[in-house]
Amino acid sequence: MDNTWDTLVELRSADERVPRVAAAVRTSLLDFLGDAESAIPRDFVVTVEDGDSPEMLMVFLRRGGFVAGVGVFGTGNRAETFVAVADRLQDAFTEEFRVATPRCPGHPHPLSAMVIGAEAMWLCPKDDNHFACRVGEYARSG
Ligand SMILES: [Zn+2]
Repeated sequence: MDNTWDTLVELRSADERVPRVAAAVRTSLLDFLGDAESAIPRDFVVTVEDGDSPEMLMVFLRRGGFVAGVGVFGTGNRAETFVAVADRLQDAFTEEFRVATPRCPGHPHPLSAMVIGAEAMWLCPKDDNHFACRVGEYARSG
């Protein structure tokens, strides 16, 4: 896995929440794009921008004529922000590409992002003893 997303997430807002939201985007993209079977294209332009309301930041993924935008508040702690971003991007990828990603190994469903302790985790939604890893470490643990 390369670290392309470290440089390709473009920040278009000076909001103080942007660095944390951008870190969450970079980290969770590693998981979605590291899920080889999902075959999600890798050549998105990714931006973090101001939303229509001051509370909301927007994350946009653009590729050709495709645009997916998800809104995040980014007001929680680090783990809460990572889970919110991972969850919203998961919804966007599911909707646009009809894929369940990141896949729960050996199960037909995708993983669920949750805050466990102080960590943002991907868990099997049926049995958290079946699979768990930190957000950003799916490609290494899957
Ligand atoms: Zn499962």
